[in-house]
Amino acid sequence: MLKNKQNPLALKNVKIKDDFWSRYVELVHDAIIPYQWDIMNDKIEGAEPSHCIQNFKIAAGLEQGEFYGMVFQDTDLAKWLEAVAYSLEIQPNEKLEEIADYAIDLVAQAQGADGYVNTYYTIAEPEGRWTNLQEGHELYTAGHFIEAAVAYYNATGKDKLLKVMSKFADYIYETFGHEEGKLKGYPGHQEIELALVKLYEVTKNKKYLELSKYFIDERGQEPYYFDLEFEERGGGYIFPVFEYLTREYLQAHSSVLKHDTAEGHSVRAVYMYAGMADLAYEYKDAEMLKACERLFDNIVNRRMYITGGIGSAESGERFTGDYDLPNDINYSETCASIGFAMFFQRMLNITKNAKYADVMEKALYNTVLAGISLRGTEFFYVNPLEVWPYACEKHPAKSHVKTTRQKWFGVACCPPNIARTLASLGQYIYSVAKDEVYMNMFVENKTTFFLNDQEVILEQQTKYPFQNMVNISCDSKEENEFTLAIRIPSWCMGAKVKVDGENIDVNENLNKGYLYIKKVWHGISKIEVIFDMPAQLMEANPKV
Ligand code: ZN
Repeated sequence: MLKNKQNPLALKNVKIKDDFWSRYVELVHDAIIPYQWDIMNDKIEGAEPSHCIQNFKIAAGLEQGEFYGMVFQDTDLAKWLEAVAYSLEIQPNEKLEEIADYAIDLVAQAQGADGYVNTYYTIAEPEGRWTNLQEGHELYTAGHFIEAAVAYYNATGKDKLLKVMSKFADYIYETFGHEEGKLKGYPGHQEIELALVKLYEVTKNKKYLELSKYFIDERGQEPYYFDLEFEERGGGYIFPVFEYLTREYLQAHSSVLKHDTAEGHSVRAVYMYAGMADLAYEYKDAEMLKACERLFDNIVNRRMYITGGIGSAESGERFTGDYDLPNDINYSETCASIGFAMFFQRMLNITKNAKYADVMEKALYNTVLAGISLRGTEFFYVNPLEVWPYACEKHPAKSHVKTTRQKWFGVACCPPNIARTLASLGQYIYSVAKDEVYMNMFVENKTTFFLNDQEVILEQQTKYPFQNMVNISCDSKEENEFTLAIRIPSWCMGAKVKVDGENIDVNENLNKGYLYIKKVWHGISKIEVIFDMPAQLMEANPKV
C-alpha cells in the first residue's frame, strides 16, 4: 500500500470543458482573482478592509505606516498567488503574471536578511518572533507561502518565490528541531507540514521532509511546548479564548499516532492529517497511515454532515463529539471541507481506495461550492444546513450564520482558499502511476499524459451529476498495456460498463470501488459507463 502512490496530473494537461464545473474554474480567472487583488489593495467599497498589500509595502520599507489586520493577514496574498499559479497553468495571461511577479517582488523585499517573512511580526512586534507559536500563525503563514512558491514555480518555471521560501524554510530548519539550541516548538495552526513535503518534492532537499516529520512527531510530546512558551514570554494571549482551550483543541494532547478521534479546530486538524498522510507515504510509516485511516473513519461515520461539512461548533471552529451535528447553529467552515478534500486526495492516491474519492467529491460539490456565489464575488465562511433569517438576527447563538454571502471577511481564510481549490480542480479528476490511470471524478475534459513513456489521450463526455452516463475515449497511438481504473461511486448500486461495445462484468473487476480495465490499448477505444442513479432518501444516524 505504501509502495507506489498515484500522482495527480499537471493542470496544464487537463483541459476541462464541463457544463457544471467550467463555469467555476473560469470564474477564478475572470472574477475571483481580479476581485481579490482589488480587495487586498483595499479598492472594494463596502468590503472589510484588508491592507494586505500595504502591510508588505511597509514591511519592505517602501512605505510608512502601521500593520493592520490579523496576525495571519499575509496568507491572503499567499493563497491568492497559489490560485494565480494554477490559473496561469491552465490559461496563460501575461498581464496577470506581471501583477503576480510584482507581488512576489514585494514578498522578496519584505524578507529579512535571515530569511524570515511575516509582516505582522516584522512591523508590529519584531521582538515577538517565535514567542507565541500557539497563536502567532508564523509557521502557518510560511506554509501557505511555500505552497504558493511551489505552485508558481510549477506553473511558470520562475523560481524567485521558490528561492525566497526555500531560504525561509532553511531558517525555520535552523530554528526548530530536537538538536541542542533549537526551539522544540511546532505550529499552533498546522499547514506547514504538508507544504514542506511539497517543497521537498520540487527541490529534492530532504531536510524539508525531515522538518515536516519533526513538526508532526514533536506534537503532543511532554513537556507541553505551548505551556513552556507561555511562561517564557511572561504570559498573555492574543486571542483570550486560548486561556480556556484544551490540548485537544490544538491536536497536541498526545502523539498524533495515538489519535482516534478528530478533535479541536477542524481546519488545523485536516491540514495536519493531510501532512500525516504525506509523511506516512514518504517514510513508509504504516502506523501513521493507520492513524489517518482511523481519523477518516471517525469523521466520516460520526462527525460529518451530509454535505461533507465538518467542525460543527462555532465556538473554536471545531469538532465537538460523535453525532453532535446540529443543523441550524453549525459552523462547517468552507476551509475545513477544502482541507478535508486535500486529506482524502492524498489517502486516495496512497491506498487506491475509492471511499476517499466518494467523500472528496461530496465536499467539492457541496460545502466548497456553497462557499462562493455564481458571480464569484460573495462568499460563505459558515455553511449551515438550515437557516431561519429572522432567528439569525435575533438569536445570539446564531449570529455567526450569515443569511447571504458576504463581500469579504475580517478573517478572510475561506475566499482565497476556494479560489485555489477551484483553479486546481484538474488535479482531483485523475491520478496516474507508471502503468495505471485512475478516473476519480466525472468531469468533461480532454487530458494528455504518459503511461509506460507513451502518450495517452483520455476524453470524458458527460453531463454528470445531472445525467448518469459517462462516455470515455482512450487514445493510444502505439500498443500500450496499462490499467484504466474507473471509480464506481459507493452510492451506485449498479453500473453498466461497455468497452468497444462489449459488456464488462463490473462486480468481477471491482476492487475497493474501482473498476479495473487492464489490456493492451491501441488506437481509439470507446468506453461507456452508465450509473444506476435513482433519487435516494438519505437519513442521519438516529444518534444525531
Ligand atoms: Zn476559512
